[in-house]
Amino acid sequence: MTDIFGSLINGEWDISGPQVKNVNPSDVSTDVGAMANGDAQNVSDAVGAARAAQPAWAATKLEERKNILHNIGQELIDRCDEIGTLLSREEGKPFAEGRGETYRAGEFYQYYAAECLRQIGESAESVRPGIHIDITREAVGVVGLITPWNFPICIPAWKMAPALAYGNTIVLKPSEITPATSYALADVLDRHLPKGVFNMVQGGGDVGAALSGSKDVDAISFTGSVSTGRKIAQAAVQNMARIQCEMGSKNPMVVMDDADMDLAVAQCLHGAFGASGQKCTASSRLIVHEKIHDEFVEKLSVAANAKRVGHALEEGTELGPVVTEGQMDKILGYMQLAKDEGGELITGGERLQRNTEGYYLPPTIYTGLGNDARVNREEVFGPMTCVIKVGSYEEGLATANDTEFGLAASIMTSGLKAAEHFKRNATFGSVLVNLATAGLDYHVPFGGRNASSYGPREQGEHAKDFYTIIKTAYTNPG
Ligand code: NAD
Repeated sequence: MTDIFGSLINGEWDISGPQVKNVNPSDVSTDVGAMANGDAQNVSDAVGAARAAQPAWAATKLEERKNILHNIGQELIDRCDEIGTLLSREEGKPFAEGRGETYRAGEFYQYYAAECLRQIGESAESVRPGIHIDITREAVGVVGLITPWNFPICIPAWKMAPALAYGNTIVLKPSEITPATSYALADVLDRHLPKGVFNMVQGGGDVGAALSGSKDVDAISFTGSVSTGRKIAQAAVQNMARIQCEMGSKNPMVVMDDADMDLAVAQCLHGAFGASGQKCTASSRLIVHEKIHDEFVEKLSVAANAKRVGHALEEGTELGPVVTEGQMDKILGYMQLAKDEGGELITGGERLQRNTEGYYLPPTIYTGLGNDARVNREEVFGPMTCVIKVGSYEEGLATANDTEFGLAASIMTSGLKAAEHFKRNATFGSVLVNLATAGLDYHVPFGGRNASSYGPREQGEHAKDFYTIIKTAYTNPG
């Protein structure tokens, strides 16, 4: 019997919508159940349920709220093998990554469980004698969360945990590409939270548009592509809803001639090809000093070739398939474009066959293209990176900054002067030294600049800037 992954509205599961088959990207002859597609009425009902539940949730005692978030986190941690396996089957990332992502989602809940007890407030003296002023933060209200498929449990977690910690109620619209993982997550939350505090409507862009256009939502937090983010921001602003968008990028790693070569190769390999390059922080432009360019390319190519591409749940797999046939075709299109633009293919570049039919692509490296090539300006979102040759640190920094995006940038160098200068002058939300652009901590702020980001930061204590609203109270004690 097929598993049907439906929507959760006011504590009730709804599987009545049209069913959409959920293909396993490691083996397209099998599927991972089917999604019951929600609709605008489901969104309206979910928003209504969240609105009704919000005052009581915001009034829940701090320790009770803390314990609930802690227990959600603990369940995700305890079940990370089981849920991680489902995630890997559905999305295609190797089991170690699926498990790690589920564990990390649990850590987000436990971090924000502790945040429930951090009493945020200030007091100020008035310019008028005898008047007292308190500055406090309150929940924003009902938040709509719209999330992508590439971290189907972690991204909802890093939005939902702070939203709940600060007293908001939620309507989540997860990606239509990962409905099974979304179901598993919603099932956990449903068992720990009062009815209506957390609601989820499954479906695609039309369901997302109904949520971002809802007049009864106070804030929308979105993660996904720039083109979708622009539409969502426009819709939210019509209703004066708060908006936070984290979107795509074209992240550079500058490799200087004084870099530790083995470390540089290892970090670039991890940054470019982890999760098959399907990360917003993927290192898709490797900007390498001309003195070490050839040696670096040779070593990176050998290391990339040694990566084992295969079924997400097969032991030893280092790169799983990409998520869908559509994504695979898009990435193959960029590989062809790199050739058409005059790039030299160093390794990879073609679909792979494995024991099961899946969307398998190898780690792919191109050289010989300038930063103005389309493949160096547009987000590919796959296991493909380009090495760009530069003659100096200054040229490396200028090339890194020459992009419409601004999520993460890194420099590999043993020189303190270049490292410090880069940290201050790279125009990105996260800047790293001797580390890949991908792979960031969960207790500190995350976000980008320019086209990559709009609105306040996510994660860490700074998440309160989005999920709370400031109140200034004056008292004349008489
Ligand atoms: P996407 O923009 O296609 O979809 C994201 C979500 O938006 C999905 O839930 C989708 O159903 C929904 N959606 C689509 N059209 C909509 C509309 N008109 N109105 C409302 N909702 C709509 O992105 P994707 O392919 O799922 O994810 C990949 C993208 O996400 C990449 O660009 C990647 O860089 C980005 N991403 C960014 C971050 C970050 O934190 N900056 C993290 C992960 C992924």
